[in-house]
Amino acid sequence: MSATDSAPKPANFLRTLIERELQDGVYAQRQWGGTPGDAAHHQAGPADPAAVRLRFPPEPNGYLHIGHAKSICLNFGLARDHGGVCHLRFDDTNPEKEEQEYVDAIIEMVRWLGWDWNFQGTEHLYWASGYFDFMYRAAERLIERGLAYVDEQTPEAMRANRGDFTTPGTDSPFRSRSVAENLARFREMRDGKHADGAMVLRARIDMASPNINLRDPALYRIKHAHHHATGDQWCIYPMYTYAHPIEDALENITHSICTLEFEDQRPFYDWLLARLSEPATLADGRQLPGLLNAPAPKQHEFGRLNLTYVVTSKRKLKALVDDGHVQGWDDPRMPTLAGLRRRGYTPAAIRKMAEDTGASKSNIWIDYSVLEGTLRADLEGQAARAMAVIDPLPLTLTNWAELYGAEHREPCGAPAHPQLPELGQRSFSLGPELWIDRDDFAEVPPKGFFRLYPPRSDAAGVTTPGNKVRLKYGMVVECTGCEKDADGRVTRVLASVVPDTKSGTPGADAVKVKGTITWVGRHDGIAAELRLFDRLFTLAQPDAGDGNYLDALNPASKTVVTGYVEPSLAVAPADTRLQFERHGYFVTDRKDHQAGAPVFNRITTLKDSWGK
Ligand code: ATP
Ligand code: MG
Repeated sequence: MSATDSAPKPANFLRTLIERELQDGVYAQRQWGGTPGDAAHHQAGPADPAAVRLRFPPEPNGYLHIGHAKSICLNFGLARDHGGVCHLRFDDTNPEKEEQEYVDAIIEMVRWLGWDWNFQGTEHLYWASGYFDFMYRAAERLIERGLAYVDEQTPEAMRANRGDFTTPGTDSPFRSRSVAENLARFREMRDGKHADGAMVLRARIDMASPNINLRDPALYRIKHAHHHATGDQWCIYPMYTYAHPIEDALENITHSICTLEFEDQRPFYDWLLARLSEPATLADGRQLPGLLNAPAPKQHEFGRLNLTYVVTSKRKLKALVDDGHVQGWDDPRMPTLAGLRRRGYTPAAIRKMAEDTGASKSNIWIDYSVLEGTLRADLEGQAARAMAVIDPLPLTLTNWAELYGAEHREPCGAPAHPQLPELGQRSFSLGPELWIDRDDFAEVPPKGFFRLYPPRSDAAGVTTPGNKVRLKYGMVVECTGCEKDADGRVTRVLASVVPDTKSGTPGADAVKVKGTITWVGRHDGIAAELRLFDRLFTLAQPDAGDGNYLDALNPASKTVVTGYVEPSLAVAPADTRLQFERHGYFVTDRKDHQAGAPVFNRITTLKDSWGK
C-alpha cells in the first residue's frame, strides 16, 4: 500500500468500527493459507499476517470513475491504516461482458491513484472466476444439506410466485424434491443437458420472508456462453449474490464494504456464509467439516459518492463514448479516472477528496467545484508558472527601435515557482512585437479598467492620456492607439516603452502603474493548441428526474483555440502541469502533445466560476 498522505484522517464509522474490532481481537485467530482457499487450506496455514483484509471488486465491464475512486481509497486506505491489505479482485462471474481493455485500464488506474495490492511480498490480485470450482462444490453441499433445490418453473411463474412487499411468496412445486433428485438435476445443468433458462438452482430459505431477497434466491443459472478465462468449461454461472460472499470468504476478507443498495442482501450474505462455514451432519449420518474459514467476513454498507454536472454510471458513460458525445473514455471532460488524469487531476487531490468525504450511511453529492478546489490546493504548491496568451492580440512597441535598435531583445526572467526556488528560473525576452490577451485592451475602458487603453478626448476637449501598465517581468509601456479592420475589430495595439522601468532594476518603481499584464514575445513565443473545458452537463444532476440525461449535455463543453506560450515550454514533456499566470492550471495533453506541436488542456481556472 504505497499512497502516503500525511494529513490526519477524519473519523468515519468504518474506521471506528475496525479500530474497535482490532482492539477486541475479533479477527486475531484467523489463519491464512497463503492464497485464497477453503477452510482446510487456511486452517493449515499460520496466523494471518494481515490484521484486516479488504477488497476492491470491480466488474471489468467499463472504466473506473470518480465513484470507484471513492471506494478504492476507502478500502485501500482502511487496509493501509490498520496493518492490513486490500485485494484487487476482478468480479468476472458474468461471461460475455468482460474485456481485457477494461482489466488493463482498471489495474492502471488503481496504481495511478497510488495503491497496490502487495503485502509482505505477495501480490493479492484475484479473479472471481478462479473460484468457480469451489462455488460449484459449495452448491452441492447446500443441496446435500437440503438447503438448495433445482427449480424448473418458468421465469414468469418464478417471478409471480415470489410475491411482493404485501404478499408472501408461494412455494415452487419443485421445492420439495429429494436431495438425490436435486443433485442429479444440478449435475445435468452443469453437464450442458439443458437449455439456457430451463431451470435454476435456488437456495431453500423462506418463501414468506419479509425480506424478498430471502425468498429462495437463485444461486446458479444456465448460460451457454464463452468465458474470457474459463472458456467453455462451464455452462452454468453463479449469481452475483451467491458468488460475492464466497469470494470474500475464500480470500479471508474481514470487512466487505459495499454501497447502500446491497443492504437488503446482507441477511443472505450472512445466511450463506454461516451455512458454508459450519460443520454439518447429513441425513445419511455423514459428518462434514465446514467448507469456509471462520470467522466469516462481514458486509458493511456506505453511501455512494455522486458528483454534480456529470453522470457516474458505467452504462451512461459508455453511451457517451459510443454515441460520440465525447472523444473516448479518457476524454478530459469525463468523470472517469482516465479522463480526470488526462485533464490534469493529481492522484493526491482525488485521494484527498475521498478522505474528506469520509464514509456515511447515506448517498452523498459532491459539488464539482469542491473537487476543483481540492485540486487547486494541491497544484498551487507544485505547478511551475508560465505566461501564455489565450486570445492573442498583437502589441507593437513603437519606440523600441529608436530606444534599443530593432534587433535588440531584452532578456527577462522569473522564478518557475514563487515559493520553490529549487524549480529554477525561466527565461524569455522582450522585443518590439508581442502577443497580449485581447481582454487586456479596451478601446473605451469600462470603469475601474486598469489595463491598456488609448488616449482620448471627451466632448469638452479634455484629453486623457493612454494608460500605462507593466508588462509582467518586463517594462512599463504606455498605450498610444490601436489599429482596426474594416469591421471595426481591433487588430493591433500600439504602445511606447517608458525607458528605465525594467522589473528588478532601480528605476522599476519610479513609474507607478495600477495594472500588470502577461504577454508572450512574437519572436520567441510558441504557438500552442489550448483545449478549454466547461462542465459536461448543464444540469447539476443530469440523470435525476424523468428527462433524458443526454438532453442536458453542454454543447459548449469544449473549446479549442490557438494561443502562445513562453519559449521555456518548447520541451515540456507530456503530463506537465503548469499554472499559466492569470489563466488557470494547464497540463500538456498526454496523448496529443509533442515537442514542436504543443497541446495543453486547461485543468481548471484559478478561481471557482462554477457556483456562479
Ligand atoms: P456502475 O453503477 O457505475 O456500473 P458498479 O457499482 O456496477 O458501478 P462495480 O465494478 O461493480 O461497478 O463497482 C466496484 C466497486 O465500486 C463496488 O464495490 C461499488 O460498490 C463501488 N462503487 C461504484 N460506484 C460507486 C460510487 N458512486 N460511490 C462509491 N462506491 C462506488
Ligand atoms: Mg456492478
